[in-house]
Amino acid sequence: MKRTHHCGQLNLEHRGQEIVLNGWVNKWRDHGGLIFIDLRDRYGVTQIVFNPQVDSKAYETAKALRAEDVIAVKGIVKERPSEAVNPKMSTGAIELYVHELEILNKAKTTPFEINDLVEVSEELRLKYRYLDLRRQKLQQNLITRSHVCKLVSDFFHSHDFVEIETPFLMKSTPEGARDFLVPSRNFPGRFYALPQSPQTYKQLLMIAGFDKYFQIVKCFRDEDLRKDRQPEFTQIDVEMSFVDEEDVIDISSRLIKQLFKNIVGFDVALPIKRLSFQEAFETYGNDKPDLRFEMPIVTLNEVFHDSDFNVFRSVIENEGRVASVVVQPADGFSRKKIDKLTDRAKSLGAKGLAYLIYSGGEFKGSVAKFLSENELKTLSSKLALRENSLILIVADKYDVAYSVLGQLRLEIAQELNLIKADRYEFVWIVDFPLLEFSKEENRYVARHHPFTSPKADQISLLEEHPEKVLARAYDLVVNGNEIAGGSIRNHRRDLQSKMFEILKISKKEAEAKFGFLLNALEYGAPPHGGIAFGLDRLVMILTGAESIRDVIAFPKTSSALSLMDGAPSEVSEEQLAELKLKIG
Ligand code: ASP
Repeated sequence: MKRTHHCGQLNLEHRGQEIVLNGWVNKWRDHGGLIFIDLRDRYGVTQIVFNPQVDSKAYETAKALRAEDVIAVKGIVKERPSEAVNPKMSTGAIELYVHELEILNKAKTTPFEINDLVEVSEELRLKYRYLDLRRQKLQQNLITRSHVCKLVSDFFHSHDFVEIETPFLMKSTPEGARDFLVPSRNFPGRFYALPQSPQTYKQLLMIAGFDKYFQIVKCFRDEDLRKDRQPEFTQIDVEMSFVDEEDVIDISSRLIKQLFKNIVGFDVALPIKRLSFQEAFETYGNDKPDLRFEMPIVTLNEVFHDSDFNVFRSVIENEGRVASVVVQPADGFSRKKIDKLTDRAKSLGAKGLAYLIYSGGEFKGSVAKFLSENELKTLSSKLALRENSLILIVADKYDVAYSVLGQLRLEIAQELNLIKADRYEFVWIVDFPLLEFSKEENRYVARHHPFTSPKADQISLLEEHPEKVLARAYDLVVNGNEIAGGSIRNHRRDLQSKMFEILKISKKEAEAKFGFLLNALEYGAPPHGGIAFGLDRLVMILTGAESIRDVIAFPKTSSALSLMDGAPSEVSEEQLAELKLKIG
């Protein structure tokens, strides 16, 4: 009883044919002497009918079938009576009248119903992931993921890229996140690390002369998990020689255009717009702006620099920012609601939230009485105020003012349903600062990674004003998600060594950790750069899934557990002894 067709295939053209289907019992119902079963496989669902008049043995056996039993059926395809036609199903015009049934395997009652509409706790879903994966939505997500990988691979091959695998067991060189370590049995006390990304390898491949490399590759980061992060995740990793930012941005944009066209039928207009890091931060409060709605942040320092209102003036005098977003119309923003927004602003780190309501040509609100007529007039024209607007103002340190307003902007837009769900708004963020100061470590750390090159005309600033140096780095953002990031690298040893110096990585430490790369840079390293896309997040956006767990076959929980097989698990004394490890 090997199948002749699959469960999503049959239609009126097959009328009268004898065919065999294999699949899972999706739904079972007894309609007064006839048994109807929806038979399911990856391709779809076919309604099969057991009629005692057609075959009493098959009918009797079918009585005992239960959801998720695996069966083989042979029967004749018939047209459904017109009232039973289901235009929503690809097989909705036919049904199969069964005259032979074989049970291939019985199923225990599953811990939850296999149905996209049934609400099940995520814990249970993850424990029985193989059952959860029977649900159509998850199957579709993974099938789309597979299409995406094929498109990516075809795209890069057609542009002459070479696909090369890099090791999973590598040297531990933590910088940024923590490494996952693998003890070496042959060399007790020594460890491999799982790659956080193939960064150093892909640079070595450029030095080796491969010119264009790509790989769809697993990466591992032992971070304290934040929501919707996985300890292992997949990147589309890319590196190119003799290129500058424009080349990497161009090929990446074209890849994205292909993917969105093929997977969701969306035309990405090229070139994708760009924003400098500073513009993005001062207009949207972060470096991954959601551009599906407006509500930009507007800086008001100019308006208030001479103000009699001490709160604003003193912030400006101390190099802070007075910045605003306008919500229009202001309907529904009661005093109570504004108080809540104020609490939210404070919880995000702001000292407070001032507001004005502009209505009937007049200003009301917490700070209206402190502001001069002239200031209000300038404000009104600067913000191009329309009737019935709410102006939210944060006066605070530079970072706080913009980041708090950026977060409020997002939350208000979500609440007011301003975000157009069917749009994809792409933007490249460029001109990132090369470094950021880490208070915990009391040193500068690389914003992207230590191999990123500073802009050529700013190298001289590295010693005196490291904070001012911009990087040759770029991120691609869609709808508020960072989906790719990369940079042009330091291809000369002297510049790379200088970077380590600025990062307070001693010569000795640099040699111990990255000596292999530093040496390689001395043997004719070409100028090179690249990028990596987060495949999980990209597929999440393309499928409209709510979490990256929904596009990963066997994901971990947010505490990095695999509920299905119980990893991480304890190991035997013998295993530990072999590795010369002791649990303290
Ligand atoms: N390796 C970098 C990362 O994992 C990406 C890149 O610079 O190409 O973020």
